[in-house]
Amino acid sequence: MEGGEGVNFIDPHIHMVSRTTDDYRALALAGIGAITEPAFWAGFDRGSAQGFRDYFNQLTVAEPARAARFGIRHYCWICLNPKEAEDLSLARDVLAIMPEFLDRPTALGVGEIGLNKNSVNEVAVLELQINLAARRDELILVHTPHLEDKLKGTRLIMDVLRNEPRIRPERVLIDHAEEHTVGEIRDRGYWVGLTLYPDSKCSPARAVDILERYGTDRVWLNSAADWGISDPLAIIKAASEMRNRRHPEELIRKIFHDNPAAFLSQCPKFITP
Ligand SMILES: [Zn+2]
Repeated sequence: MEGGEGVNFIDPHIHMVSRTTDDYRALALAGIGAITEPAFWAGFDRGSAQGFRDYFNQLTVAEPARAARFGIRHYCWICLNPKEAEDLSLARDVLAIMPEFLDRPTALGVGEIGLNKNSVNEVAVLELQINLAARRDELILVHTPHLEDKLKGTRLIMDVLRNEPRIRPERVLIDHAEEHTVGEIRDRGYWVGLTLYPDSKCSPARAVDILERYGTDRVWLNSAADWGISDPLAIIKAASEMRNRRHPEELIRKIFHDNPAAFLSQCPKFITP
């Protein structure tokens, strides 16, 4: 599938550690020139901080090399994900090694942090990671819970962010937004991420509906493709949907290149493709 029309696509949220090398080839053929990979849950709980050290090495060394074979720039985000935040002693150990990896040349910031079940320990670890990001002036990528209480979780996260006065909202992107959270995220000054899913959740058509309703400023689209049912070419399909609805090429370029580049370029390590 071709993205075409000269847009150098950016998928700002994709988990390539769980994708094949054939997927890299497909991304390159479709015109995706840069990707960013947040640290996330592996599908199982890691047993120690050493497990995270290995994973962070994979994100900062192995994946950029794998992507480079196909001419794709690979960047990453470093964090302890909310699903593994219940064990506070493990969390402290992982937080202690994060700065070493945030210093790596392709690490753009802290993410994807957030909440899963909105538990007390999850909130405590979220505060610690926001504090770390504030101290280092890092960009932040936020995961919002996929529950019926997405709105509640999103508000809780935004409240924790607001409690840290050093955090500037324009340097935070809140991902997996939906119709009922987009407006409030924007009103509070944050960037919005819309995640495309092949079934159940946000289809390309639904994502484009959201863009038509809420506008195209401070928003990016991503595949969040991982080890589950997902589509690494989802952003290309959303671009096709926009073309089918007769949206101009400049707008497609804005959504899939200019917007993510503008947010990510706030970190000087990001080189716009
Ligand atoms: Zn993710």
